[in-house]
Amino acid sequence: SNLTDELEASIRTIKDYPKPGILFRDITTLLGQPRAFRRAVDELVHPYAGQQISKIAGIEARGFILGGAMAHQLSAGFVPIRKKGKLPHETVRVAYSLEYGVDEMEMHKDAVKEGESVILVDDLIATGGTAEGAVKLLRQMGANIVAACFVIDLPDLGGRRKLEDLGVQVRTLIEYP
Ligand code: IMP
Repeated sequence: SNLTDELEASIRTIKDYPKPGILFRDITTLLGQPRAFRRAVDELVHPYAGQQISKIAGIEARGFILGGAMAHQLSAGFVPIRKKGKLPHETVRVAYSLEYGVDEMEMHKDAVKEGESVILVDDLIATGGTAEGAVKLLRQMGANIVAACFVIDLPDLGGRRKLEDLGVQVRTLIEYP
């Protein structure tokens, strides 16, 4: 469609970044185009307009940019999910798998309350390991995860399926095979 074409055209692909053999999908060029940025955010939030969404939880760092815009549009709060050691107050922490090895991410314990409706967001889902970690943190604090949203899905890496198997509804705008 028209929207898919515009978003695809606004995303830059960088060969061999951060390592040889990787095709890195760079959304900074989308963010830098006023119309593409607005249309991406509008498309991400439109199913939730008029619903009572308490919080948008964004995954560091590009999930902060998309999530901030989504939170404003839905009149929701924003919750940062960060790499370990960055948040100043009491946190919950989870280990998550990367392509090679593991890392840990954190969320403030008081960032979501039991029963709050939350939408999770990041720029891209690949294996789903990062988003799965975020889902665990949110559920640990009793959040009701309404959906997980991503601009880009790499379906061959199975992330969407992994989240759906956890009972999370997934919304993505573009797929790259
Ligand atoms: P996953 O945990 O394998 O799903 O990887 C997704 C995480 O890695 C997200 O936080 C993405 O921002 C990041 N990521 C992986 N590949 C890319 C890419 O090609 N472009 C931008 N971010 C990526």
